Amino acid sequence: MQYRFHTFVELQAILEAESISAPEYGIKREAFMTGLPEERIRAEFDRRIAVTRNALLQGLEHPQHSRLGLTKGAAVAFTKAERHLIRDDLFTRSLAYSLAINEVNACGGKVVAFPTAGSSGIVPGVIWAWWDTRSQGASGTVRLNDPPYDPRLQDAFTLASLTGVIIAQGATLAGSEGGCQAECGAAGAMAACALAYLEGLPLGACFSAAALSLKNSLGLACDPVAGLVEVPCVKRNAFVAANVLTAVDLTLSGIESIIPFDEVVWAMKQIGDSLPASIRENAAGGLAITPTGCMVKQALERLQP
Ligand code: SF4
Repeated sequence: MQYRFHTFVELQAILEAESISAPEYGIKREAFMTGLPEERIRAEFDRRIAVTRNALLQGLEHPQHSRLGLTKGAAVAFTKAERHLIRDDLFTRSLAYSLAINEVNACGGKVVAFPTAGSSGIVPGVIWAWWDTRSQGASGTVRLNDPPYDPRLQDAFTLASLTGVIIAQGATLAGSEGGCQAECGAAGAMAACALAYLEGLPLGACFSAAALSLKNSLGLACDPVAGLVEVPCVKRNAFVAANVLTAVDLTLSGIESIIPFDEVVWAMKQIGDSLPASIRENAAGGLAITPTGCMVKQALERLQP
């Protein structure tokens, strides 16, 4: 089997030639790349999925507070809020879950970089929110916290990973190279692809949803205040989760991305290459050099020995 591909078009050609599903191919490819048996790969996927679930529960059950107070229990506050403009369980949970996991990261907890630590809340946040609200009765394993998980859950995470592989090869997953479109933007594309899959859409539609989501993050600056992965990162995870839901809802309505996924990745690379260095994770531009951003940086310097 061919395990090298650079684009969705190439991936699709392999899947059709081999008559294999994308998630199944993703596991086989990982086994080939690592030299490990498929059972080990599946077990490792489950282990990492469990890490995301534990981070989610930690962030929801215990308000996360960082040293400088930039992170201060937003997930718990959002979950307990009496008023919400949009009263939809999937929507509320997607935002809360994405916040919760990323707050755990901001406070030094254990997460899975999916694809990076700064964007770690988006993929698991959206997938777990869907799972906890929409998978009821599917397999009798709803709300399980420990592996082994329902195979559909592992499939969704595997498809998200394959989406990330294409972005990594065609552009980048590093904010220092491509700005935040490469981190939160990429995570949004990965999550949209996975969520569309869970909704039962065909692969072409899944990648159209990914394209819709990624298009809406193109050009996003990486300007973390004081160089900490907190502002704007934590709340941006929730914003991109909302982006993902919009992309999948549009796709469910039959609305397609005019620009194919591979071309959006190409555009992302061009935009990333033309971003100034000051907004590529150097904390030398944008929000990082606002008066408040500078005050936070000075406060951090006073704390350091
Ligand atoms: S703003 Fe920069 S550090 Fe924060 S999540 Fe985005 S890419 Fe990562």
